[in-house]
Formats: sequence, C-alpha cells, structure tokens
Amino acid sequence: MFNFFNAKKSAGASGAPRSKELRRYIEDALERKVAIGHFNISNVEGFWAVVNAAEVVSKEAGRDIPVIIGVSEGERDFIGVTQTRALVDSYRAQTGRPVFLNADHTYSFDRVKEVVDAGYDSFIYDGTEQSFDDNVAATRKCVAYGRSKNPDILIEAEIGFIGKSSKVLDGIPEGVKISEEFLTKPEEAKRFADATGVDMLAPAVGNIHGMLKGGKDPALNIKRIKEISDEVKLPLVLHGGSGNSAEDFTAAIDAGVAIVHVNTELRVAFRDALKAAVAAHPDEVAPYKLMKPTVVAMQQVVEGKLRTFNRV
Ligand SMILES: [Zn+2]
Repeated sequence: MFNFFNAKKSAGASGAPRSKELRRYIEDALERKVAIGHFNISNVEGFWAVVNAAEVVSKEAGRDIPVIIGVSEGERDFIGVTQTRALVDSYRAQTGRPVFLNADHTYSFDRVKEVVDAGYDSFIYDGTEQSFDDNVAATRKCVAYGRSKNPDILIEAEIGFIGKSSKVLDGIPEGVKISEEFLTKPEEAKRFADATGVDMLAPAVGNIHGMLKGGKDPALNIKRIKEISDEVKLPLVLHGGSGNSAEDFTAAIDAGVAIVHVNTELRVAFRDALKAAVAAHPDEVAPYKLMKPTVVAMQQVVEGKLRTFNRV
C-alpha cells in the first residue's frame, strides 16, 4: 500500500535515529488508524503543556502516545532554533518518551538549511504561494539538501493554499477557497509528490489555518482526502486542526490523515489563562506563578486533541 517506508530502505544507516523512529510511529499510526498530534509552541510553557499531556494520555491508553512539537519560523526564532532542539533532546534523554521536533511552515531554502543543520527530525517546505513548477523546483532543492545531511529526515510539502496565520479569524482567510473546485486535486498531488520526492503531503481539503470566531470551522471534505490518499499513497497531514469537530478528525484519519496540526486553540488558551491570572493576582510579579495557569490551560487542550486523534 504505502510506498513511504520501502522507498527509504536503501537510504543508508547514517540518518538520525529520531527521524527513523518518527517514521515508525507514522507507519504505526496508519496501521492503527490514529493520527499523531502536532502542536505548535512559542515558549517553554507550551513545551510542558504538550509533553505533560502526552504523558497523561499515554497512561490512559496504556501505550506510548507520540507527539510532535512544531515550531514555525517565528516561533523557533523566539525560543531559539538550536535551543528548541536542545529542549526536546534533554526531555527525551531524561524520559525516553517519543517526542519529536518539526520545523513547521518554512518558506525559504536558507531556513530549511538552518533546521536541517540543527538536526530537526522533519521539516515542511511551504511553497504554496509560488506557481506549481516553481514550487516543485524549490521543494526539490530542499529535499536534496535534507537527504544529503540526514537520509531519514521527514519532508512534508503543501499543495493548495489554506491561509497562513494561526489566529482567531472573522472569516475565511483571503485567497482560501473551500469550494470543491479549489481543493487539492488528486492527480495534481500525485504529480507534485512524484516530482519532488517528499514523504508527506498537506493538502487543501476544506481546512483553514486559524479558527473562525464564535463558530465551527467549515467541514472537511473527507471524500477528497480519501481520493488524494488513494492516489499519492503517502501519509497526509492535516493542517488547521483548530476549530474542527471530533467527528471530522476521525473521518479524516480513516481516510488517510496520519498527522494533525493544532496551534490556534493553544494560543487562545494561553492568552485567556494569562489574562485571567494577571487579573486575579494584580500584585504578582513572579513569571513562573503567572504562567503556571497557561501551562494547565494549554495542556487541557492538548489532552483533548490527543484523545480524539488516538481514539483513547
Ligand atoms: Zn500549517
């Protein structure tokens, strides 16, 4: 079925073991019909929220639930590109838990090179604002560099535009069309995957980055997800996993989604908890006391998503 792992068997043994391990977890997710949660962080509070939640849900599930820490260009600049790697590594060394590190939406070759050199387990090159041919050429360059440094590094590309910001939105973001004719076409996805050699694809299937104010995000096009999965035979990644319903996620996972990204809901939980903490303790100046409730609030969101994605 999936040619994802077979293709990499000849890649040699020099790849970082973490990338190899992540490949095994993705394969396992496809077999179990579950998805790995990918959660963006901006600070160490976010980091603890994700790993604490994974520990809680792993206990409930009776198995290790893997998680991917995601950092966009802005997020990893704030924490530090190599410091984020060190944070994940130190946690792994101490606990042995399956926590992985992904460079989320990366818009240039130079920034791809930076995370490959820093030893990230995976990266996403996002060339969706370019023409199809330019996107293919730029993605190929990133794939070649990534594989030259780490043959097992997981590389994801996006096809179809779903918006850029992880914000609470007043409406569907400009440039994003969710009617059927504008969704990623299976044959186009296949052409792109074959031309670039990426490991995973993030299609536009009715998902949007960010989440809509006060309401539910538009429903995902499950039929299209299945068609793309059947055609490209690569694990699919669902971006914009804030604001969608549990039923939509489960159906999307059944149709071939192996990783789901969540960011905006965590940002909202952080902001609301921080506002409440400052309001409740106007004389408090210890950051670790003011920030503690933000960890708890984000952790609750992550736990809920992990239960849904992993059918716990
Ligand atoms: Zn995304």
